[in-house]
Amino acid sequence: MKIYRDYDLTELNTFGVSARAKLFTEINDPADLTELFALPEFKENKKIFLGGGSNVLFTGDLDGLVVLNNLKGIEVLSETTTEVLIRAMSGEIWHDLVLFAVDREYWGIENLAFIPGTVGAAPMQNVGAYGAELKNILENVETFSTEDGTKRIFTRDECELGYRDSIFKNELKEKYFIFAITLKLSKIEKKNISYKILQEYLEKNKIIIKSPRDISDAVTMIRKNKLPDPKIIGNAGSFFKNIFMEQEKLKNLLQKYPDMPHFREDNLTKIPSAWLIEQCGPANGTSWKGYKLGNVGVHERQALVIVNYGGASGEEIKNLAEKITNSVFDKFKIKLIPEVNLI
Ligand SMILES: Cc1cc2nc3c(=O)[nH]c(=O)nc-3n(C[C@H](O)[C@H](O)[C@H](O)COP(=O)(O)OP(=O)(O)OC[C@H]3O[C@@H](n4cnc5c(N)ncnc54)[C@H](O)[C@@H]3O)c2cc1C
Repeated sequence: MKIYRDYDLTELNTFGVSARAKLFTEINDPADLTELFALPEFKENKKIFLGGGSNVLFTGDLDGLVVLNNLKGIEVLSETTTEVLIRAMSGEIWHDLVLFAVDREYWGIENLAFIPGTVGAAPMQNVGAYGAELKNILENVETFSTEDGTKRIFTRDECELGYRDSIFKNELKEKYFIFAITLKLSKIEKKNISYKILQEYLEKNKIIIKSPRDISDAVTMIRKNKLPDPKIIGNAGSFFKNIFMEQEKLKNLLQKYPDMPHFREDNLTKIPSAWLIEQCGPANGTSWKGYKLGNVGVHERQALVIVNYGGASGEEIKNLAEKITNSVFDKFKIKLIPEVNLI
């Protein structure tokens, strides 16, 4: 196993920020993992596992060992007439797993099509989109402790999956390497097209859903039109999470801002952070949406997406995120929480 020193990570994060890792290696095979855990460089340094780099912001050089995960493989573990268990290695590309499932007419994962990144990062933030979440289909997560190399399987409940959240982002942060995940999918039609944008797209294009592939194709098209492609302009998708609020606090806000969009979800109400960001700006009467200063900015169509126009440092992006957070707090007394992992 080759260990590189002072390794350039610019190509390994979708923000495209330049940062260097003190130490860097890749794992391509499960056997590499045993070797990795035995290395003195592994034991003595902070470890950062990296998939597609589509949910990280490197705020500076990394004083540790960065491990790029290339563990591949997808298999059907078992099936009944109605359900199927699929196991995927963590270095698989998430969208390839979606295609594996929809091509076999397995339902449950199709709304999560075209989310960038790897399978192993999906439980980290319980990836979600277009009315679906990993939580709805996850069976278990196989991990190895980064402290002593022991294997542990987390059931779905043990992962404590919430809105863009999990135990791996909180008390077990950096304590486990996610090795593989198992999903339970349905062999019987289970379409979920209640999400407004998806519904409108299907109606407008007169698409009749006959298979999960019809949904994954629709979601892919919507996403391609809506989100900036990181290959063209550096970004990590939504930089901030949406806000979930209790009824009492919402009432007060709505009195002051009756136009504020809000959506009831269970016993909480969701407020799109994009709207809050649009209402604030670098100066009175301006909006962050479409803002550009030097190398960084806020996307012109997506206020949640911070972009690197080329050559921005992680520090510059972090500073802009802080300015946005402060201005939203000053106006609404609401604290934005980053969805992106700042490293
Ligand atoms: C254009 C765009 C659109 C996006 N849209 C969505 C969306 O709709 N929904 C959504 O949920 N997300 C979205 N994202 C965010 C991102 O795609 C997901 O969070 C994805 O799961 C990240 O995968 P990754 O492999 O790139 O993770 P990375 O960025 O490589 O890592 C993310 C975090 O997980 C840790 N990690 C990665 N792999 C492992 C592992 N095997 N074991 C332990 N820790 C690990 C890393 O250390 C880091 O803290 C979007 C991003 C972009 C750029």
